[in-house]
Amino acid sequence: MSSNCLFCKISSGEIPSQKIYEDEHVFGFVDIHPQAKIHLLFLHKKHTANINEMSTDPKAIAQMFHGIAEYSKSCDLATNGFRVVTNLGADGGQSVFHTHFHILGGEPLGHFGRR
Ligand code: AMP
Ligand code: ZN
Repeated sequence: MSSNCLFCKISSGEIPSQKIYEDEHVFGFVDIHPQAKIHLLFLHKKHTANINEMSTDPKAIAQMFHGIAEYSKSCDLATNGFRVVTNLGADGGQSVFHTHFHILGGEPLGHFGRR
């Protein structure tokens, strides 16, 4: 737990969220500013700032995608398809510095361009 991190506080329950998934390592909840019909955020409970930092812990990456797979297979998401996005740093548009994966779906998204 990083003391002043919004997503550490959300995954520990200190700050409320619309939780949709939780296991020992992973927490999933609804994004407050949805960019698609379904817009969820998945994070690892162990704080890292971004995917490059998380890459030093392969077990955490496996646990992360295990959680996403478990959730998506439990509902229509995996059937209809979805997009996974993670932002890193200023050009990537990262605004919360606890590694997280955006899960977008619930409708056809089309191909994404530069902006
Ligand atoms: P990023 O810009 O990639 O760092 O993503 C941060 C995401 O967190 C944005 O899509 C925000 O809408 C979302 N967000 C920020 N605060 C909250 C919150 N309290 N509950 C749910 N989602 C949040
Ligand atoms: Zn954190």
